[in-house]
Amino acid sequence: MSSNEFDLIRRYFWGLGGGEAIRLGIGDDAALLDLPPGEVLVASVDTLVEGVHYPEDTFPEDVGYRALAVAASDLAAMGASPLACTLALTLPAADELWLQAFSEGLARACADCGLPLAGGDTTRGPATVITIQVFGACPAGAALRRDGARPGDRVCVTGTVGDAAAALAILEERWHPGPEAAAVLLERFNRPTPRLALGERLRGAATAAIDVSDGLLADLGHIAAASGVAIALDSAALPLSPALAAAGEQGRAWALGGGDDYELAFTLPAEAALPEGCTHIGEVREGSGLSVDGEPADASGYRHF
Ligand code: ADP
Ligand code: MG
Repeated sequence: MSSNEFDLIRRYFWGLGGGEAIRLGIGDDAALLDLPPGEVLVASVDTLVEGVHYPEDTFPEDVGYRALAVAASDLAAMGASPLACTLALTLPAADELWLQAFSEGLARACADCGLPLAGGDTTRGPATVITIQVFGACPAGAALRRDGARPGDRVCVTGTVGDAAAALAILEERWHPGPEAAAVLLERFNRPTPRLALGERLRGAATAAIDVSDGLLADLGHIAAASGVAIALDSAALPLSPALAAAGEQGRAWALGGGDDYELAFTLPAEAALPEGCTHIGEVREGSGLSVDGEPADASGYRHF
């Protein structure tokens, strides 16, 4: 790499390193990470392509924040404790204003998620592409998988669902709520909150878990299929933010079918206590497939729409 590129990395990314797990970080050929004794490495990677995964006019701070938050959500869904991340960045040009703002958003997410930057790669290319790999740790056998749901378990979800789909409708000018509601929903899309602490707490309690990236029904469909069970949801129980509750049937459709919320959906045995901030939205049953209010449903939504 040229000294120019190295200056960019030093200026914008060097400060995002540090942290207990990184024995050797940015600056060598590869990073060395410490893994707690007896634990397994949990690894996941996600890519954001400008214009595909976020609108081109998104603030670069939000792009940086969201890129890491989205990747970190997969660690939460596995019940992993965060260790570190790496960043592969493809840019059409070395736009320093963009890099400054992007790295500030990324730094905030690194701090919020406990995922310091251990290294990366920087290349020139025809479009902005951001790939973030995240590393976590978990005792072998304790990871939250998709295949453990059992008939009789409760189906639960963290936070509120449908907000990111509503934000997308605002960005695409399909929906026009008041400015206050719009600001709250756009923040939910641009700055998702990966549920890392809750994921760790669910180890040994939840029988299955997934993060809601494609939509509640689509993602619960993955748990149902992997576990060989049916999942029945009660639409009246869905946790909706005030703006979505006010949007009536459309709000519930976003909650069931919309993606990008990065909440955790999980199954909990009947005897386990429901953690704070979580809502009981349905039941695991014998059989296969999904239903909402007793009606068969598919991943795209439910039949009423
Ligand atoms: P190599 O050519 O050996 O692959 P690079 O020149 O790509 O090394 O990177 C030099 C150092 O800078 C490495 O430690 C790498 O991890 C780090 N690095 C490169 N790009 C980034 C980035 N976007 N974010 C963080 N670290 C980076
Ligand atoms: Mg390299």
